[in-house]
Amino acid sequence: MKPPPFEYHAPATVDEACALLASLEDAKVLAGGQSLVPLLNFRLARPAHIVDINRITALDRIYERDGGVAIQALARQAAVEDSEPVARVCPLLTAAVRLVAHRVIRNRGTLCGSLAHADPASELPAVVLVLGGHVIARSSRGERLIEAGQLFQGVMETALAPDELLVEAWFPSSPQPFAVIEESRRHGDFALAGVVRAAGRLALFGVAPTPVLADPRDPLQGLQPSGDLEATAEFRLHLVRVLTEKAFAA
Ligand SMILES: Cc1cc2nc3c(=O)[nH]c(=O)nc-3n(C[C@H](O)[C@H](O)[C@H](O)COP(=O)(O)OP(=O)(O)OC[C@H]3O[C@@H](n4cnc5c(N)ncnc54)[C@H](O)[C@@H]3O)c2cc1C
Repeated sequence: MKPPPFEYHAPATVDEACALLASLEDAKVLAGGQSLVPLLNFRLARPAHIVDINRITALDRIYERDGGVAIQALARQAAVEDSEPVARVCPLLTAAVRLVAHRVIRNRGTLCGSLAHADPASELPAVVLVLGGHVIARSSRGERLIEAGQLFQGVMETALAPDELLVEAWFPSSPQPFAVIEESRRHGDFALAGVVRAAGRLALFGVAPTPVLADPRDPLQGLQPSGDLEATAEFRLHLVRVLTEKAFAA
């Protein structure tokens, strides 16, 4: 499969990328391409312009700030997985990123891309939500901080405006005990359902249009997962119940 035609742009700086996003009609950012390229090839996305941020230097840092870890837009998921500061400050994130796809995909895929893509079955949005982290969005209008609780708006929908680049995500240090557990058909597949525990807090993924915070004593409250070819709604509810028990027994 080949993507539909688009105009390709390769800015060298964040300011250039923001200027392009501000001036172009119907543009999409390309980071690791592990979600966007399949969408293009299946013709599920048909942007007129692609703004490839891979040539922007100095946007791949992982560093400690404000008692947590900051991960910039071009830090690959594999770099997060291997990062010493992440393992020390936020070991929950190290555990979660290992559940994302396979290593070859994590070699290209970015953590910020996962948050911007906002797949409901994705692990990392649930992690930033349960920890109360945030992202920094930059545009030619300036910079703003978006709390994780405000970021995820719907299935693959975020609070990012079309002209905004997600430049950095911040994860607070993870409390003990923590657990991230999911059920998928095969290792590396997207989860049918998953849970993330951070001390007494619980987030669910794969069971609603966005990751959701849930009451650990009653995790099914208000949940209305949809059924599909992979799992019925009832099975997803069953998984949430069992995975929550496991997470709190862990
Ligand atoms: C076989 C396979 C299995 C997978 N399994 C999983 C899984 O189990 N769990 C999981 O979470 N993911 C999974 N993924 C997706 C993978 O983690 C992607 O890497 C990730 O979702 C997107 O990151 P990316 O850098 O590749 O983004 P891209 O594909 O480049 O972009 C994805 C979307 O995010 C936008 N975007 C990316 N970066 C930015 C930015 N900095 N600012 C604004 N917008 C941005 C793009 O415009 C696009 O809309 C899988 C992918 C494959 C191919």
